[in-house]
Amino acid sequence: MSTFEFTVLGASGGPSEGGTQSMLLREHGTLGSEKWICVDAGSGLHQLMSMLAKKQRLAANERDSCMGDRIESLYRNMEEPLSAFIDRRLHVLRGLNSSELLVSEDNIICAALKMFNKIREYYITHPHLDHVAALVINSPAVKAEGKTILGLKSTVDALKEHLFNDVIWPDLLAEKSTPLDFNVLRELKVHKCVSVPNWSILPFPVSHGQTVVGRVPNFSTVYLIKDQRTDNCLLVCGDLESDLISGKPYLSNVWNYLSENIPFNRITGIVMECSSPSSTEKAHLYGHMSSRYVVHELKQLSKAYDRPLDGLKVIIIHVKMEPQEIDPRLTILEELRSLASMAGIGDIIFSIAIQGYTFIL
Ligand SMILES: [Zn+2]
Ligand SMILES: [Zn+2]
Repeated sequence: MSTFEFTVLGASGGPSEGGTQSMLLREHGTLGSEKWICVDAGSGLHQLMSMLAKKQRLAANERDSCMGDRIESLYRNMEEPLSAFIDRRLHVLRGLNSSELLVSEDNIICAALKMFNKIREYYITHPHLDHVAALVINSPAVKAEGKTILGLKSTVDALKEHLFNDVIWPDLLAEKSTPLDFNVLRELKVHKCVSVPNWSILPFPVSHGQTVVGRVPNFSTVYLIKDQRTDNCLLVCGDLESDLISGKPYLSNVWNYLSENIPFNRITGIVMECSSPSSTEKAHLYGHMSSRYVVHELKQLSKAYDRPLDGLKVIIIHVKMEPQEIDPRLTILEELRSLASMAGIGDIIFSIAIQGYTFIL
């Protein structure tokens, strides 16, 4: 039974601006509800407008099937079919899964703003700009209902000190009737989601390389979202590096927690960053994953469960769109499929997160 609807507002890991990591999540089968959360906010309002506009332009008979959609690529080909990025076993929809959001009386801008103000909680993985740019730029559009920005202490402190500091951006929190609020999450402590009361959210700290100056460890977050009704779980990663590189057991802790607490068939998906293809040298990963490290970590997950990961849905996000002959998203997808097959860790369903599409998980 599907539990989660995962809409990709932004999937890029840069370096071009716009379209960077942001995911909109809600319970599957709750059409008409206003229960949304966002994990990361590199993209936001503009993407909501684009999705509504695209849906509005399509004729009624074109609204359903999307696997033949042409996705902008700008590498070997200007476009690639959606099916080149997504395993056909996945249920994917164009835009938001929300008939109620078809624009009727409102224009696109007004409808997108209404939608935007239904998102009341933002779970931020770490404060890098590609994960929070839209949170900042969109903030003047936040209405009185407000938004809560949640993250581990290092994330919340950095956002307050370095972004909403009255220099880089107005200190909206200093206003008496501020519509923005921050909430510090505690590491490895279950947090009850307010927007979606059936969900509990467990934050794991993970390594994300080191700072440039002083080589101080840099942290990010993996969120485990559990639906209390179905016991199904979705694991959503921000930027992160493999334990093989950090030399610390951050990801092992995640895999061990999962294997000790969550039956394998309750993991409905893992959204995992993979910034670069395997050929990228370790020294050039800068706290990120490449295909071979993703497969190494999945192998650790397979060992933790002591079983192959047959049927596990792994959705790759945060690919760096760097200059090369073939679209790096396609290179990474091919590498993951072949490396996982060589590692003998089971029939994993790999796909790439594509901006503007919703995965039903
Ligand atoms: Zn980062
Ligand atoms: Zn990033």
